[in-house]
Amino acid sequence: MQFQLTEEQVAFQDTVRRFARAKLAPYAAAIDESPEFPWDLYRALGAQGLLGLTVPEDMGGSGAGVLEACLAAEELGRVSASFAPRVGVSTMIAESILLGGTEEQRARWVKPIVAGDLLPAIALTEPESGSDALSLTTTAVEHGGGWRINGTKRFITNADIADVILLVARLGEGGADGFGTFLVEKGSAGLEFTSVYSKMAGAALHACEVVLDGVEVPSGALLGEAPLPAGFIHAMSKGRLIVTAVATGLAAEATEVATRYATERRQFGRPIIKFQGVSFMLADMAIRTEAARSLLYRAASVYRDDEVLGTALASMAKCFATDVAMQVTTDAVQVLGGSGYTREFPVERMMREAKLLQIYEGTNQVQRVLVARHLESALE
Ligand SMILES: Cc1cc2nc3c(=O)[nH]c(=O)nc-3n(C[C@H](O)[C@H](O)[C@H](O)COP(=O)(O)OP(=O)(O)OC[C@H]3O[C@@H](n4cnc5c(N)ncnc54)[C@H](O)[C@@H]3O)c2cc1C
Repeated sequence: MQFQLTEEQVAFQDTVRRFARAKLAPYAAAIDESPEFPWDLYRALGAQGLLGLTVPEDMGGSGAGVLEACLAAEELGRVSASFAPRVGVSTMIAESILLGGTEEQRARWVKPIVAGDLLPAIALTEPESGSDALSLTTTAVEHGGGWRINGTKRFITNADIADVILLVARLGEGGADGFGTFLVEKGSAGLEFTSVYSKMAGAALHACEVVLDGVEVPSGALLGEAPLPAGFIHAMSKGRLIVTAVATGLAAEATEVATRYATERRQFGRPIIKFQGVSFMLADMAIRTEAARSLLYRAASVYRDDEVLGTALASMAKCFATDVAMQVTTDAVQVLGGSGYTREFPVERMMREAKLLQIYEGTNQVQRVLVARHLESALE
């Protein structure tokens, strides 16, 4: 078992760290507070190969392995845990098109998405179908050589500004023919954005309600009949690993900010880190973060070779690391005292960013359900 990163992995990590500090950090507060989407930053991520982390280089990506992708997401997550998950989303969408799409779909969409020239969104969640994703009711019925789609999607990130939405629907009258994934283009007639929710963090990432009122798409918009549930669930676990990595980076950064503050801030004639009540909090933050990182690296290492264990470990890692991020960022606010509660320091933003990581890509309750299911099936 290898516990050291290779020289190449360290070099890649270092490149992304420098990129994140130079290009992403200046936007972190604005991404949190302003609804303006940072297009320049997004294109810079594309130019760096970060919007297609595991996409092959000849398709414009980084051609990285899953562990390397996680190393990159960890570095980006240190700086903006609201924005960093976008690298996982664009990678997942590009890979879905590469794997399930026709030659024409690949040629049209993959490189522009990975370059950051086109912004994609992914639409699965509906008002009545969240954790119970397969109960979705949006339908696509064959019509005039193409498809007609009806339904409502909720909390779809960037749907209102996306060039293309990867959308999951039930096929056939009454949705009786299984599931399909469609590429729905911006400006399609009948595609409406009825609400952009005001939310706790990440104002630049718009959480939209999307109504599809008889949206007609050509036959070429069908990406493939979604191979649910087995392969799809494994594919989703890569997204979970990216969120795990973002959470690990977020926890690491919060620990570092709190440690630095605790060495500088003096009360009762000494730096507050000299009080055991503070230093033990910092030690626990570091211990939890390191444990999250170990689980992340193990899950990422077995992802490709062992689908069953890899999927279970991805759920464990997502659940553990995002809970750690929530706890560590909350403790970081505590270590900074009143300053931690102000926007003069980044830790209150980090605490708000951590909350979403526990909710999306499958809530942490759902991850526990999946882990328990894995335990049961391992006995069979
Ligand atoms: C900011 C934001 C961005 C998002 N972006 C996207 C996006 O781009 N695309 C997209 O498709 N979706 C997106 N989502 C949706 C997100 O994935 C869902 O919110 C999430 O899956 C939970 O679904 P829900 O909100 O309907 O909660 P519910 O499923 O209603 O869950 C409510 C509570 O019940 C718990 N619960 C549910 N079922 C169980 C169970 N079996 N056992 C134990 N507890 C359970 C949940 O854990 C949760 O605590 C986004 C959400 C947010 C908030």
